[in-house]
Amino acid sequence: MTRYAIPAPAIPSLSIDGSSDRFPVRRVYCIGRNYAAHTIEMGGDPNREAPFFFQKNPDNLDQSGEFPYPVKSGDVHHEMEMLVALKSGGTDIPVANALEHVFGYAVALDMTRRDLQGDAKAARRPWEIGKAFERSAPCGPIMPVSAVGHPDHGLVQLSVNDETRQTGDLNQMIWKVPEMIAYLSEYFELAAGDVILSGTPSGVAAVARGDVMEAKIAGLGSLKVTVV
Ligand code: MN
Repeated sequence: MTRYAIPAPAIPSLSIDGSSDRFPVRRVYCIGRNYAAHTIEMGGDPNREAPFFFQKNPDNLDQSGEFPYPVKSGDVHHEMEMLVALKSGGTDIPVANALEHVFGYAVALDMTRRDLQGDAKAARRPWEIGKAFERSAPCGPIMPVSAVGHPDHGLVQLSVNDETRQTGDLNQMIWKVPEMIAYLSEYFELAAGDVILSGTPSGVAAVARGDVMEAKIAGLGSLKVTVV
């Protein structure tokens, strides 16, 4: 048995709908600008160019239903996204086989300190300070493929205090789930426990303490998170 010099941190994990087993998380990849309307609202060119990714930390995932307003920011945005959880991986995975590696899907939020992300972009610095902070990735239970299949179309919607803020359709993703998996596997070795946040539709906006965010994806249920 391995003896650690300091107390070993827990393995971050997510609940699975219909099971008492948990899904252990290894890495969190997030795609940027994967819906044309959001790309335009962020000042980008929606023509299909190579995708780009950033990462959050596995322990940034949070299923408590509460999102603590983070420190060092006065402009925190919601980005609602579909989470893709992998049960296996590899390198150079063909698009045609990519979905075989998916364990399940969940409704998730890529909460963003937009002011700090903006400063980082302007200074050509990495995005972690705006993206990979504590509890920055609220998410719902993982819905296994065995129950929900592979959702590739259907409404994606986020409301704040019952007012609709973001609306899109899974079929509007510029890079589809199998393409994201294939692309990532060209640059990284993917493995069981990796999750991918698949990008947000347009309508990202600021939240305040007390706001109740409700994110829905057709076929995957809803996620309710209160900003505290
Ligand atoms: Mn995002």
